[in-house]
Amino acid sequence: MCEWGYNVRIEGHLNKWGKPFYVDECIASLIQVLNDNGFLTIASCCGHGKSFGNISLRNGKELIIMPDFETARLFEKKIKEIQNGK
Ligand SMILES: [Zn+2]
Repeated sequence: MCEWGYNVRIEGHLNKWGKPFYVDECIASLIQVLNDNGFLTIASCCGHGKSFGNISLRNGKELIIMPDFETARLFEKKIKEIQNGK
C-alpha cells in the first residue's frame, strides 16, 4: 500500500468533472485496465494499509480489494452470516 496523497494520473481518462484522473499509485494499473476496458471508475482508494481497498464503478457497482484469498473467504463468510441474521 502506498502513502496517502501519492497519486498517479490515469492516462486517457477524465473524471466526471472533466479533470485529469488521479488514483493511488499501488492500484493505478488495475484502475487503468478497468477504464481501458469500459469499466469506468469514479472513485478508489487502496486503503493505505488501514482498511481494504475499494473501487467505485460508474455503473454503481463497488469492488473491494482484499489482501489475499483467505481474508476474502473469511469476509465472504461473515457477510453471509450478516445476510442470514446470525
Ligand atoms: Zn496504496
